[in-house]
Amino acid sequence: MRVSIDVDRCQGHGRCELIAPDYFVVDDAGVGQVLRDEVADADRADVEEARFCCPEQAIAVGD
Ligand code: SF4
Repeated sequence: MRVSIDVDRCQGHGRCELIAPDYFVVDDAGVGQVLRDEVADADRADVEEARFCCPEQAIAVGD
């Protein structure tokens, strides 16, 4: 599974970073960035939760 952030939608809330800090960080400009775009099977639930909790629906996951 792969994950990405639409930086045009992201508002820098940082919920993704709180939920899955191995995969997301809010940079110095206040924009969410993906740290690792290939999601390990063991981390899928955390990344899916981050996607669900993103208020801007900026996180996308796919194969
Ligand atoms: S939760 Fe969504 S809007 Fe907030 S920083 Fe993460 S990707 Fe951006």
